[in-house]
Amino acid sequence: MTPAHPTARANRVVVVGAGITGLAAAFEWRRRRPDDEIVVLEAGDRIGGKLHRVELAGSWYDTGPEAMLARVPDAVALVEALGLSDRLVAPATTQASVVLPDGRHPLPAGTVLGVPAEADGLEGFLSADGVARVRAEADLPPVQLDGDVAVGALLRERLGDEVVDRLVEPLLGGVYAGRADELSLQATMPALAAHLPRAGSVLGAAAAARDAGARSRGDVDGPVFVTVTDGIGSLPAALVEASRADVRLRAPAHGLRRTASGFEVSAGSMAEPQVLAADAVIVTAPALKAARLLQEVAPSAVEPLAGIPYASMAVVAMAFPAQEVAAGSGLLVPPVTGRLVKGVTVSSAKWPHLDGGGALLVRSSVGRFRAESDLQRDDDELVAAVVEDVADLLGLARPEPLETALVRWGGGLPQYLVGHPGRVAAVRAAVAEVPGLEIAGAAFDGVGVPACIRDASRAVAALLD
Ligand SMILES: Cc1cc2nc3c(=O)[nH]c(=O)nc-3n(C[C@H](O)[C@H](O)[C@H](O)COP(=O)(O)OP(=O)(O)OC[C@H]3O[C@@H](n4cnc5c(N)ncnc54)[C@H](O)[C@@H]3O)c2cc1C
Repeated sequence: MTPAHPTARANRVVVVGAGITGLAAAFEWRRRRPDDEIVVLEAGDRIGGKLHRVELAGSWYDTGPEAMLARVPDAVALVEALGLSDRLVAPATTQASVVLPDGRHPLPAGTVLGVPAEADGLEGFLSADGVARVRAEADLPPVQLDGDVAVGALLRERLGDEVVDRLVEPLLGGVYAGRADELSLQATMPALAAHLPRAGSVLGAAAAARDAGARSRGDVDGPVFVTVTDGIGSLPAALVEASRADVRLRAPAHGLRRTASGFEVSAGSMAEPQVLAADAVIVTAPALKAARLLQEVAPSAVEPLAGIPYASMAVVAMAFPAQEVAAGSGLLVPPVTGRLVKGVTVSSAKWPHLDGGGALLVRSSVGRFRAESDLQRDDDELVAAVVEDVADLLGLARPEPLETALVRWGGGLPQYLVGHPGRVAAVRAAVAEVPGLEIAGAAFDGVGVPACIRDASRAVAALLD
């Protein structure tokens, strides 16, 4: 049997993956262990993973994540720890609207990821029958849940189809590129799920989750979202510099085995791999890649990891000639509209620093889980189709773009399908059996940047504490 080795004295940690999770882990490791050697292996030819920015009309413009939830404090704390708090900026407007077959409607306030806490305020957004259906939840017997369920299944039964198709789907589509009928209630709406047994109704649980969220924020009166003036895509380079990590690009890790004193990681070309000895290893590659890597050291993690699929998407960044648009921070576009795009962010209205030198800066995303065919067009065709949809949705008077940039995100967002919490628990249990090994990233306890950073800190603490 391989002896457990003293990770508390680790002096070389190998991090697999240079996305935000891997780089935040490297930074956190450096803060705690100033003298250790930190090697980050990255399969691709650049750092950042899903964090990416382009230059658009003279501004840095994010084509991966563009906003970070400030209520999960880890991202703001990281930016502060990097000494970059002067670059944090709050949105100038957060009023978004939902495009529905009968026109555009302002997103109702006070929902929990689209789940309403009351029927009042939904008039006009839902049909009269739809509102009546929500109101009638009070007459239903208390919710009885036996384990995890799909968000869609529960809400269709309790509140009717319109709440799902018009309100919840656009929000889940934005965050997960997923579908309410397949996504896990416990994983995507944990606060709501936690309040359901006591509340007995979805409306009651949504109200309790909303109020508990407000209470835990107390008097803290900050913005819900923030971004970084030169792009969230600027954080990877800052993290590499501050962590003084040895980042190796084009170095996919493809082998991991235990040795008497720790691990041996093989990376780079299969024919002539670099072989690195490591005292600790943190795997932050997407689930399927992580599954392959853990085959030998943590075989029981493989099946649950392989059960976490990903949705692919594309982001088109566009600069149009300066013109007035009245769409607030942007539009959510659910599948019921039959549109190609699933969202439009009017960045030059949303973010005060993105004035685009007068240009109108807009980004739009395409692609949902199990709708890969939306992306199967060549680049020019895809950009042209998105520009046409966006110009129509925003009613642009000058619809010819000055500049565009397309970024395709194959395997962009993990899908937290029904049963996800069980899969995560199984992966974590398998990894916990291997001293010196940790796994973290978007596949587990939150896809957002702050959640990834939180998971990176958790992984480092688990190895060092
Ligand atoms: C288009 C888009 C928009 C988004 N918008 C937002 C947003 O506005 N706000 C928000 O909070 N979140 C957003 N997200 C989600 C968030 O950006 C991601 O979930 C997060 O950045 C993932 O970080 P990660 O480090 O876990 O994974 P990744 O960024 O995927 O990093 C993993 C890295 O591992 C590398 N890798 C893979 N295999 C290997 C291997 N064998 N060896 C070495 N390296 C390997 C990959 O190349 C990659 O660089 C968005 C995501 C996308 C795709």
